[in-house]
Amino acid sequence: MTIQRKQTREVRIGKVRIGGANPVVVQSMTNTDTRDVEQTVEQIRQLQEAGCEIVRLAVLNEDAAWAIKPIRSQVSVPLVADIHFDHRLAVSALEAGVDALRINPGNIGTRAAVDRVVDAAKAHNAVIRIGVNSGSLETDLIDQYGGPTPEAMVESAFRHIRMLEDRNFGDIKVSLKSSSVSRCIEAYTLLSAKCDYPLHIGVTEAGTVLRGSIKSAVGLGVLLWQGIGDTLRVSLTSDPVAEMAVAWEILRSLGLRSRGPEIIACPTCGRCEIGLIALAEEVERRLEGETESFKVAVMGCVVNGPGEAREADLGIAGGRDKGIIFRKGEIVRTVKGGSNLLAAFMEELDTFLAHRRAERKDD
Ligand code: SF4
Repeated sequence: MTIQRKQTREVRIGKVRIGGANPVVVQSMTNTDTRDVEQTVEQIRQLQEAGCEIVRLAVLNEDAAWAIKPIRSQVSVPLVADIHFDHRLAVSALEAGVDALRINPGNIGTRAAVDRVVDAAKAHNAVIRIGVNSGSLETDLIDQYGGPTPEAMVESAFRHIRMLEDRNFGDIKVSLKSSSVSRCIEAYTLLSAKCDYPLHIGVTEAGTVLRGSIKSAVGLGVLLWQGIGDTLRVSLTSDPVAEMAVAWEILRSLGLRSRGPEIIACPTCGRCEIGLIALAEEVERRLEGETESFKVAVMGCVVNGPGEAREADLGIAGGRDKGIIFRKGEIVRTVKGGSNLLAAFMEELDTFLAHRRAERKDD
């Protein structure tokens, strides 16, 4: 079964099109001080190299808003300014070259302030992302719904949306974040049924790498499976670059997009007589930084391993006495077991990568 993506309106953040029939886009946020241009540019470059397609920056004051100008001139990825409460920062960030704002119009004060932000966004062809967070919902909605329920979050989103629609502004993206996976799923599912604006999905404050990855994979996985989500962020309490591998693995596991090689490794069992874990880790290390998509299988025995290894672009089914290496379904090498396996497989992996590079050059 393939995923039927919900058809949302297409908007453009810089050169990246989102919504409509466009693929789900991977996003993250820097954790540097935006005023520190050098460090921020460096982190954006690292994020981009790891597969980030839209980068958000926190804009806490005028200095940070204007730092976007030199940052913008040094990086190609679309930039989103994250602003709370102060409409002047939004206007400055737009003038400094940002491609989108993350700002809630209901939180920036007067009607005139909202008018100024919308006028500036229109003048700069910028998207506005409304970001509802269950931790900072309006108190009247909390009272009305008895807490930060999914319904209250959706109602809050519509309040902000209406303020933009009243000003004939439609380049909107919406997020509804909560640290509760089930609340996130319910809120996005409700909102998706009620509007066709593109949605930025994520589980916020998800936690450290292990817990955060699991919560994000479950939350985003359920939403993506329903066809919901046009951009996504995996939020981890870690270096934001670490979010990229998780985000791409989520997309790959659902067959939505792929980036870099897929490494299949068996979980090992009592039948495994080789150092499979070390072999799989070594393969992973060797393939770090590869952006092309292909499949490598590292399997621990010659009983159940060959099936999976044969299906991969390069695979090994290793045993104590012998190991079989496959390339695209064909046996290319049979090696004696034990420590020879790692060296032989690495040789084959290097040959495989060299062939791919040569093919790429010819194209
Ligand atoms: Fe066990 Fe072989 Fe399956 Fe690995 S491939 S889990 S060693 S049966």
